[in-house]
Amino acid sequence: MECPPQTFEGLKLGESTNHLLAAFADAIGKEYVLSTDEDKEPYLTDWGKRFKGNALAILRPINTSEVAAIVNVCKRHRVPIVPQGGNTGLCGGATPDASGQAVVICLRRLNQIQALDLENATITVGAGAILKDVQNAAILQNRLFPLSLAAEGSCTIGGNLATNAGGVQVLRYGNMRDLTLGLEVVTANGEIWNGLRGLRKDNTGYSLKDLFIGSEGTLGIITAATLKVFPLPITKVTVLVKVNDVASSIALLQQVQKVCSADLTAFELISSRAIELVADRFILAQQLLQDQADWIVLIELSSMESEEKIRLDLQNLLMDAMNSNLVIDGIVADSIQQSKAMWGIRETIPEAQLQLGNVIKHDISLPISELSDFIQTTNARLKESWPDIEIIVFGHVGDGNLHYNIVGINLEVSALLENRRGQINQLVHDQVYLHNGSFSAEHGIGQTKVTELSERKSFVEMALMKAIKKSLDPLCIMNPNKVVLREPD
Ligand SMILES: Cc1cc2nc3c(=O)[nH]c(=O)nc-3n(C[C@H](O)[C@H](O)[C@H](O)COP(=O)(O)OP(=O)(O)OC[C@H]3O[C@@H](n4cnc5c(N)ncnc54)[C@H](O)[C@@H]3O)c2cc1C
Repeated sequence: MECPPQTFEGLKLGESTNHLLAAFADAIGKEYVLSTDEDKEPYLTDWGKRFKGNALAILRPINTSEVAAIVNVCKRHRVPIVPQGGNTGLCGGATPDASGQAVVICLRRLNQIQALDLENATITVGAGAILKDVQNAAILQNRLFPLSLAAEGSCTIGGNLATNAGGVQVLRYGNMRDLTLGLEVVTANGEIWNGLRGLRKDNTGYSLKDLFIGSEGTLGIITAATLKVFPLPITKVTVLVKVNDVASSIALLQQVQKVCSADLTAFELISSRAIELVADRFILAQQLLQDQADWIVLIELSSMESEEKIRLDLQNLLMDAMNSNLVIDGIVADSIQQSKAMWGIRETIPEAQLQLGNVIKHDISLPISELSDFIQTTNARLKESWPDIEIIVFGHVGDGNLHYNIVGINLEVSALLENRRGQINQLVHDQVYLHNGSFSAEHGIGQTKVTELSERKSFVEMALMKAIKKSLDPLCIMNPNKVVLREPD
């Protein structure tokens, strides 16, 4: 059951739009209320171009008070709100529906780096700060803000928080929830909650920040955050190794964890089919494809130890792994450029997939011990049902997180895939649950998985989630029908 259709309360049809636009202009200034089709256009489609919505206006506030002022107008007139950061999310969460009744609140102007407390090892930033800018602000003070993902040049801290983003260094530093100490939020009631505490211990009742993190804009608007920073490692070594199968990569992960422990920051698995997609852009990718290996593992170590020591440890480890037939071959990056090329291969894959037409994506999480069996079983079942598809797999295997994507063997088959989306999702996600996994690891629910969420979660879990939504957003104006479909009162 969907959220009830919104009506602009207290306003007559016809005069409502102008009245609302004037109220928004009063709150944030006319030039920051975008209402022409041309101005609105860039905010109405998601990154993957799968969803296209419409909006009454795009609102671009500059600070928390302006956000609160807008929410108060929306609350008064029951205007649905879709928060938006960098619009790089992969589940349609930042795209409004097609009704044109919602406003998109773009947070990108709240981009200040507010404070860097070196002694407390925290950085406080506005929700609209671009992730890369936050990383760079930390580096300037010889510190590391470790969240790292391919969209870091355009995604925002608010979006990272709202989706509880993961990325390539979760193995060592955790996901966005683990990196967050405090939040500032504008509630659905239009009030400002200042919870910007930089405390590592604070057992004073319910952890409200944990409710807002991962809530995808459905409970309130995050306007600022206090985040953890770490000492900047002095040594970074990146390696690509070829392995024959997923089981070998898991065995290798255990070896690396044993020898390098906390220095292991990334452990990514990439299928050779995914490498092929970027072969025309990276000579290194062509080299990787030269002799037969079904899987490539990208490993990164970051350390306070000298580079010589880390390289030596790694070389010994790889020798042992090759002698025991765990690894076929490996390349240790000998320059920053080569390390960048290795990461370039990994990070270009999501974009390169778009050239294959329709891609049915799965962002799944499994116990690491189940990964190998999951891939073998699910690949076999899919191919049995649809011999004309290909499976492209890559992901943060050190966290048990796979991007398990399906395309057609050619563009014509890919064009037909939409008709099979439901059946393919069902098969893949059934296998995920049979292997004790989750059908959303790090991208969230948005609008792509909202129905499935209610089917896969237990009655009790869904009832608790609906109760939280209803209590924090009783009018259902915050990103309606994303994450939780609410029944009318
Ligand atoms: C190439 C590529 C690679 C990616 N790799 C990864 C990866 O490795 N790991 C990973 O976790 N994700 C990855 N993502 C997806 C990831 O979710 C986003 O990149 C990022 O976290 C979203 O930030 P954003 O600012 O773009 O949010 P948006 O897309 O603008 O919004 C995402 C959701 O958050 C809500 N939201 C945004 N800002 C706020 C706010 N201030 N307050 C409340 N709600 C808000 C929106 O309503 C929406 O529901 C990738 C995306 C791309 C395009």
